[in-house]
Amino acid sequence: MIKTRGYAVHDPTSPLTPFSFERREPGPHDVQIEILYCGICHTDLHQARNDWGGSMYPMVPGHEIVGRVTHVGAQVTKVKPDDYAGVGCMVDSCRRCPACHEGLEQYCEEGPTWTYNAKERGSEQLTFGGYSERVVVEERFVVKIPASLDLQAVAPLLCAGITTYSPLRHWHVGKGQRVGVIGLGGLGHMGVKFAKAFGAQVVMITTSPAKGKDALRLGASEVLVSKDSAAMAKQAKSFHFLLNTIPNPHDLNPYLALLKRDATMVLVGALTALEPPLQGHNLISDRRRLAGSVIGGMPETQEMIDFCAAHNIVSDVEVVPIQSVNQAYERLLKNDVRYRFVIDMASLK
Ligand code: NAP
Ligand code: ZN
Ligand code: ZN
Repeated sequence: MIKTRGYAVHDPTSPLTPFSFERREPGPHDVQIEILYCGICHTDLHQARNDWGGSMYPMVPGHEIVGRVTHVGAQVTKVKPDDYAGVGCMVDSCRRCPACHEGLEQYCEEGPTWTYNAKERGSEQLTFGGYSERVVVEERFVVKIPASLDLQAVAPLLCAGITTYSPLRHWHVGKGQRVGVIGLGGLGHMGVKFAKAFGAQVVMITTSPAKGKDALRLGASEVLVSKDSAAMAKQAKSFHFLLNTIPNPHDLNPYLALLKRDATMVLVGALTALEPPLQGHNLISDRRRLAGSVIGGMPETQEMIDFCAAHNIVSDVEVVPIQSVNQAYERLLKNDVRYRFVIDMASLK
């Protein structure tokens, strides 16, 4: 076993503190990665605070992992020592079901093994995430990172990037479409960049008018303040697609009313019960659709990284030392992030 240091949370209300644990020795199909940067996703905060129930402690969060390969098993072909590699939200899946066969491991019928707050397959051993020195992961769940990209700004692509890229691709967002991205945070700012890169006309839909200038810089051509009901009413039935990244339960009705006939709103944020209730007419009257999406599969995650390398797309980050992780959580909760915190893991040394 490999002794590994990191930061863990031990219950829903305490801060993260230094924590030592063990990783397995790499097997023939495993890649060992020295973690250089790890993004802070809002999911880390939800899981640490047990917002969704079922959190398992001690928990080492972190699923936006970028690092340098230090060791590969004899059967590994995807990467070699000294390559840069990334790990996202999953570290395993059943590999037998139709979803796994299609490279949609996130929809594994037995459930994927999440990078943290999960148990290793067939074991009681908890998985531990990227707020740590190193990780050992089977090569299927590792992506190769081109050396040309700015590594600290690449880390958020492993979750925020793929979670926005995948639904935009799945629903064929592109040229000639008016697309709304709802919520300008970690996911939202990547959603704006990708929708723009795919050729859509992007409208940033935000509760924060102060972010308007940034939204335009990131690629939006217009800003719609969702609290302004007159402005919202004016834009009724004008969107081909909406990507909703709001992390909390909220009223979906005013957003659905923005959709054209046959158009879709995809939820990626709010996982718990939605309040207030959905008004059926908001779906029925214009044959609208409400859908959801979880990250993306491993082949698509590599495709997204390669797309980013080809189009020079990375995240806008604020790099923090691991010792500031609790302050970063507080700021994330207060919607005070431009637009992703990334931990410099060198600070752990
Ligand atoms: P984030 O950085 O905190 O951004 C969320 C944004 O939503 C905020 O910047 C804010 O934007 C807006 N917002 C926050 N609270 C709101 C409220 N009560 N009403 C309306 N708007 C609100 O979070 P994130 O890391 O992007 O994550 C967003 C959500 O996606 C989280 O719930 C996370 O767990 C989830 N997630 C899902 C997946 C998946 O696979 N489906 C993957 C990763 C994350 P404005 O200031 O512009 O309004
Ligand atoms: Zn995430
Ligand atoms: Zn499966």
